[in-house]
Amino acid sequence: MGNRTSMERAADAEDPNLNMEDCCVCKSPIDEEQGDIRGYFGIIPTCFCVWCMSSITDMVIQLNGFDDIDVLQERIDELKSEH
Ligand SMILES: [Zn+2]
Repeated sequence: MGNRTSMERAADAEDPNLNMEDCCVCKSPIDEEQGDIRGYFGIIPTCFCVWCMSSITDMVIQLNGFDDIDVLQERIDELKSEH
């Protein structure tokens, strides 16, 4: 696997703070075998089911304008200049 999120890496540590059973948004049972994830949202221990994670991802994409090709290209150019 390529890039793993900080949430996924935190979950690897078997942190007792991440021992939650339900999605922090919709309260459905967490099943990491199905792609649900645990980790830190900033400093807050949290977990998200795949559906809520997908919604959060969409929200971030829209809030940052990354659904606009020009904005996205600008960000890609920034990333390229950083490396
Ligand atoms: Zn959920």
